[in-house]
Amino acid sequence: MNNHKSHTPGCMVSGVGASPGIAIGRAFLLDRGKLKPRGEKISSDQVGAEKERFLAAVASARQELEEIKERTLKERGKETSGQHNYIFDVHLLMMKDKMLVDDTLTLIKEKKINAEWALSLNSEKIINFFKKMEDAYLRERQSDVAHVSERILRHLTKSDYDSIDKISRGVIIVAHDLSPADTLQLNPQKVSAFVTDLGGRTSHTAIVARSLEIPAVVGTEYATEKINGGDRLVVDGIEGKIIVNPSREQLEAYQEKKRQYNLFQAHLLLNRDLPAETSDGFRVSLAGNIETPEETESIMAHGATNIGLYRTEFLFLNRQTLPTEEEHFLTYQKVTRSLPPDSTTTIRTFDLGADKIAASAAFHEDSINPALGLRGIRLCLNRPDIFVTQIRGILRASHYGKLKIMLPMISGLKELRQARTIIDASKRELEREGVPFDEKIPVGIMIEVPSAAIISDQLAQEADFFSIGTNDLIQYTLALDRSNEHVSYLYEPLHPAILRLLNQIITNAREAQIPVSVCGEMAGEPLYTLVLLGLGLDKLSMNAISIPHIKQIIRQSTFVEARLMLEEALQMNTAFEVEGYIAREMNRRFPETFLMKI
Ligand code: PEP
Ligand code: MG
Repeated sequence: MNNHKSHTPGCMVSGVGASPGIAIGRAFLLDRGKLKPRGEKISSDQVGAEKERFLAAVASARQELEEIKERTLKERGKETSGQHNYIFDVHLLMMKDKMLVDDTLTLIKEKKINAEWALSLNSEKIINFFKKMEDAYLRERQSDVAHVSERILRHLTKSDYDSIDKISRGVIIVAHDLSPADTLQLNPQKVSAFVTDLGGRTSHTAIVARSLEIPAVVGTEYATEKINGGDRLVVDGIEGKIIVNPSREQLEAYQEKKRQYNLFQAHLLLNRDLPAETSDGFRVSLAGNIETPEETESIMAHGATNIGLYRTEFLFLNRQTLPTEEEHFLTYQKVTRSLPPDSTTTIRTFDLGADKIAASAAFHEDSINPALGLRGIRLCLNRPDIFVTQIRGILRASHYGKLKIMLPMISGLKELRQARTIIDASKRELEREGVPFDEKIPVGIMIEVPSAAIISDQLAQEADFFSIGTNDLIQYTLALDRSNEHVSYLYEPLHPAILRLLNQIITNAREAQIPVSVCGEMAGEPLYTLVLLGLGLDKLSMNAISIPHIKQIIRQSTFVEARLMLEEALQMNTAFEVEGYIAREMNRRFPETFLMKI
């Protein structure tokens, strides 16, 4: 880690505001770079000592892992740390494994090379062995081998291993990148904000930050180069700025902005139990997006009772095996039971892939373009065993609360029909087994692939509802990688092509008389609320913190003005023109509402 970066006091680093809020605190640089150990030849009489050195590194790596396991158990309690414990146990076992330990010792002896070199060679061999496995579960083991060897290597080279669990109270994490899984492990009590070099506003890391209500700025490109560990930082997640070692005036100004922002948020919560209805009587249903069952509490605290998107692929977090039918059932039952009786939960079937989570890597590792690979419904149709297990779990839980099934990444009618056939077969199976379920459970689709948007008139004949996934729809229509900071400037929800597509999808859904919602991040961004309202959506589904703000904007507007604004926007030729127009109109109407900047 470089601790000698020079910068002027109060210098600013900018990026993409990924999760709103202001945080002031000390920087903690999380170095997740890969180790590049030096390989050296050794003489015969050094072999014994080298073997000892290797075994000592394995022993201290084991001890470290045991301690982390203990700490996690204590801090998070048995229930929430169950998944983490599992992964710890797998890693602890591997450190005793003959293939990993004994074969490294043999290499040291036979090739007369140092322990670092021998371990790297050996783990590469084991990783290649797992890579070739037919079985997806076994293939997944390669990432464990890599993690375990990395930990031993750090002990061999006496490198400091920065890990999330060592973080103490109130720091701001600065990292090159954080995976969605890393982010979900952040404890908001200890981490007051984070900043990354990589990432875009709709990357899953950003989405998880919003769920946890941790202010974040991503896609800064150079934050890890410009910030030293221990620097005082101001992170402005609303504007996407970081002030490094602020002056007294800057600090005071941001303390005031933080106070105002917190007051504003508290004030918004006063509308918690009021409907999202315009003053001329147009009502929109506001729902929550969740990644874990525990988030339902926060959704309700922010004034929603329905879940419009449950991203179930997060059930895979930090685990090496697929969830069983019983786990699916219990999880969905838990979600529906934690909501009021009339609430509806829309369960999106696994959308494993792209930037989601490590455990799914096994399905994509050979793909240089995972966003276009075997993800979402494609993976489920390719692996009906995975799909059926989940569908049976959902169907069983549908007896205990109102559930809907939502299929991700549908690109044409064939996929919808195939999925429906599998769902129907699962229903008949449960019937034969005498297991109760909701025979009329709605089966809807995400509209997030441009081909689905274009044929949405046809899809609307066979889907029970549409939910527009603007994150992917924008990614695929404008051909920009949503996780890549270099193209985040192209993320333009108000691009004329996107507006036309949205208009077309919603019109087609209305004509077929099926409900249509938006559940991408656009739904939770106040700048776009009147445009979406004007489009005539039935429902907007978003992360918990956005709900009160969006509701406030709806309650202070009329459907007529939203419609006029949309019509004006639809006449414009460039994203720049539309954005300028909408930003001016929204800032004029809501001057004090901390709109996210575009
Ligand atoms: C989307 O694509 O807009 C969406 C809601 O799904 P995800 O962000 O999980 O891809
Ligand atoms: Mg999507």
